[in-house]
Amino acid sequence: MRAVLEAPGVKGHDVLRLPCDAANEKEAVTGLVRRIVAANDPPVTSAFSVLDLGKVAELFAAWRRGLKGVPPYYAVKCNPNPALLGALAALGSGFDCFSPAEMDAVLALGVAPDRIIYANPCKPEPHIAYAASVGVNVTTFDSVEEVGKIKRFHPSCKLLLRLKVSDAGEALDHLGTKYGALEEEVVPLLHAARSAGLEVTGVAFHVGSAVSRVGAYDAAVKAARAVFDAAAALGMPPMRVLDIGYFGDMTDVEVIGEPGRYFAQTPFTLAARVFGKRTRGQVREYWIDDGIYDTLNCVVNISRYVPRPVPVVASACGETHHPSTVFGPTLNPLDVVVQGYPLPELRIGDWMVFHDIGAYTTVVSTNFNGFSASEMKTYLASSV
Ligand SMILES: *Cc1c(COP(=O)(O)O)cnc(C)c1O
Repeated sequence: MRAVLEAPGVKGHDVLRLPCDAANEKEAVTGLVRRIVAANDPPVTSAFSVLDLGKVAELFAAWRRGLKGVPPYYAVKCNPNPALLGALAALGSGFDCFSPAEMDAVLALGVAPDRIIYANPCKPEPHIAYAASVGVNVTTFDSVEEVGKIKRFHPSCKLLLRLKVSDAGEALDHLGTKYGALEEEVVPLLHAARSAGLEVTGVAFHVGSAVSRVGAYDAAVKAARAVFDAAAALGMPPMRVLDIGYFGDMTDVEVIGEPGRYFAQTPFTLAARVFGKRTRGQVREYWIDDGIYDTLNCVVNISRYVPRPVPVVASACGETHHPSTVFGPTLNPLDVVVQGYPLPELRIGDWMVFHDIGAYTTVVSTNFNGFSASEMKTYLASSV
């Protein structure tokens, strides 16, 4: 944890202490939000988030215990918050970057370029040249055309063949529909790489985001093994990297993982302020300053996130709960966070928190209607 507090992106910022008398982690964060809004110093008038750095360290330790010898390469696109990136860098994580901007965010923390995988199978040519200029030397590919571009702009780059694998219909975003080589394309791709003088060091696949059944990996690992064997049959140098799986008889295979939401989801909590209210019979309608165009866009996009607002009220609000609608701030009538949700009577200036909101949220927010989540303050916190 000391390394995390010394990390670039963290060091020099206040790290607030989470209350230690709370029943669980989530209540501790809610308690901290209550303290921040009550202290009013400086006055807090718009939505903010809390990043629990202790949680990041805990997740990292759990990864190390559960996936021994499998280095994680955090998928930066999931949430590029600088303190999260800095904490993961200090803990020893590698990074999966999709673009020069994501590489810059990681390199700026002092991370060596060999801890970065350029995991974009179809790259604009200037981006390939940029990777070459900063020393990012591993990338994925799934087309013959890509081999030609890499040969031209980054001839010393090592390649991971990105395979299309089935998610058995479970994943939230079916990444396989856009990326990944088909089985019959593997050998032509290996030939193309060899003719271009490029080294294919391994295989990458993504079973799709938020797949919870381990069995989803079986077919993918089998297909990856077939690629290793095909390369050997062509007399190519042995492949070394599998992203992610396990072959017992190949002792030199380095197995790596590219977790995104695993590290980003649970350490972040959003606090949003109630700034509007309407009463219609039993129903209460509230407007808060974050919605489907901001952090809470996860309500409508690829996150399996079901918002459960937890009220943080200034004064005792009674036991009665009302069926409540919570609107986001924009004019779009679809900008609704929850409907028919039981909440106590809230007043303008009260707050609600949303836990576990760090994955694919702020990073896909917009400035629609002039409400911007990118301006949002993130308080750093830790229980130690
Ligand atoms: C987005 C992405 C990831 C991370 O996915 P999660 O479901 O958030 O863990 C990993 N690898 C690649 C290639 C990706 O595009």
